[in-house]
Amino acid sequence: ACLIFVLQVRLVSPMFNIILFGPPGSGKGTQSEQLIAKYQLKHLSTGDLLRSEIATKTPLGLEAKNFMDKGQLVPDEVVIGMISSALDANPQVKGFLFDGFPRTEAQSEALDKLLQLKKTEIGVVLALQVSEEELKKRLISRGEVSGRSDDTEAVIVNRIKEYHAKTAPVAEYYKTTEKLIEV
Ligand code: ADP
Repeated sequence: ACLIFVLQVRLVSPMFNIILFGPPGSGKGTQSEQLIAKYQLKHLSTGDLLRSEIATKTPLGLEAKNFMDKGQLVPDEVVIGMISSALDANPQVKGFLFDGFPRTEAQSEALDKLLQLKKTEIGVVLALQVSEEELKKRLISRGEVSGRSDDTEAVIVNRIKEYHAKTAPVAEYYKTTEKLIEV
């Protein structure tokens, strides 16, 4: 209830952008569905965008697949380019919900610049907190139903490693801007 209150107060500004932040398996996808429905935000999930590039076998998708299948992050230029195009393609929205992006410090700096060009900014960063043990359990059981090729134990271990090495520092960055809310 407290979280909803914070969001309602801050949603008064013309455009409101949220980052949903958290390790693999923390429930970003599920929480995104609820938030976009409630606040009519445009959902931008880099994971979903990459999987749709893979499904249609674009050159970008084929390049990204090599990294994703190993549980490694896709290069910054690739995901930043994808987000930049998605921002340009949606000029009239109430705001964006970034899901799984930014995942590196370079990506968060690029996002700040892209939003500045559009005369807007990040309103809040919601950081989902889940224990390591629970994450692994969820990812393995998701792998049994999702058909996602990166939900196998060895790849999951790598994705969590990448999260600690490259993505967790991004939360520290948003802490300094006082935009981070841990849930
Ligand atoms: P999860 O959060 O469970 O890892 P995602 O769908 O967000 O699921 O990401 C799946 C994979 O897609 C990641 O392991 C990574 O290879 C790639 N990916 C998604 N978003 C990014 C990003 N912002 N930067 C780099 N790679 C990304």
